[in-house]
Amino acid sequence: DRLIAAAPQGGELVQDHAIRPKRLADYIGQPRVREQLEIFIQAARGRGESLDHTLVFGPPGLGKTTLANIIAAEMDVDIKSTSGPVLERPGDLAAMLTNLEPGDVLFIDEIHRLSPVVEEVLYPAMEDFQLDIVIGEGPAARSIKLDLPRFTLVGATTRAGLLTSPLRDRFGIVQRLEFYGIDDLTGIVSRSARLLGVEADGAGAAEIARRARGTPRIANRLLRRVRDYAEVRGRGVIDVEVADRALDMLHVDHHGLDHMDRRLLLAMIEKFDGGPVGVDSLAAAIGEERDTIEDVIEPYLIQQGLMMRTARGRVVTRQAYAHFDLVPDSATPD
Ligand code: ADP
Repeated sequence: DRLIAAAPQGGELVQDHAIRPKRLADYIGQPRVREQLEIFIQAARGRGESLDHTLVFGPPGLGKTTLANIIAAEMDVDIKSTSGPVLERPGDLAAMLTNLEPGDVLFIDEIHRLSPVVEEVLYPAMEDFQLDIVIGEGPAARSIKLDLPRFTLVGATTRAGLLTSPLRDRFGIVQRLEFYGIDDLTGIVSRSARLLGVEADGAGAAEIARRARGTPRIANRLLRRVRDYAEVRGRGVIDVEVADRALDMLHVDHHGLDHMDRRLLLAMIEKFDGGPVGVDSLAAAIGEERDTIEDVIEPYLIQQGLMMRTARGRVVTRQAYAHFDLVPDSATPD
């Protein structure tokens, strides 16, 4: 597994329990999201109602699951969690829905991966708090209708555009999470260090933050590895020097790029004169699957302005040349 992958890795979901913020006040950054939710939650509580269905979208590791749990805590209700791919049949969703207590939060991660038949069950549940489902098959099949308690559906997805529009339209609140800036990520690293019982000074925390690709999950993972290094090779304290040495040893460079990112950019520069190059040729040149390039490696490099996707193929930018102290030719885009 890549150290800088945004998806959770073995054991992390359990380890995260101690450092995951529990209340809105502990949720660092994302000021617009926080302010809006604060108002919506307070208003719903004041009226004694459940919160409107809420859709949270944004890249992996930015805090969607955390936010769903915070919503339940702030509303003082229970949360029941599942995910799109787990809900294979309509009955799976019906079982979750009939288990809800009034006001509960039902959290569906990767909600864009619900199958169409399951999604059909969700529409009347969201809109009228009604379960409308066919049980059995053939002549024995019958349709049942049940009233459900009022609940709040919190859906999470990496891109709002992946949702069908009837589903998207049924959310009253839609929030988009952005990559975190260095200051907010530094705050997250400092908070996690405190909770993990390791001393990190401001510059040390900032060094980890700078290399964490704008993503709290990666920041927390790097923190754990830097802590190991500090305990074994240092005095157990994370300062800028320890953080820098540890992250160099882990091959995470000053931009948060790892060997896969660098290999891709260097192949484009050295083998294809900076592009344009088609993704299949690129995949063959570096021996990676096309999907891995498109889903895993490329998005951060594009977001950072190191490469671009054009109609004629991928091209690297001047920034990518600068990253390797190389001189671009005059046709290289900014
Ligand atoms: P997602 O569901 O978007 O993949 P998570 O909610 O699981 O991401 O967040 C990943 C980890 O990052 C969490 O365990 C949490 O500790 C940390 N985290 C996320 N957002 C924040 C935040 N705003 N403040 C502090 N820690 C955060």
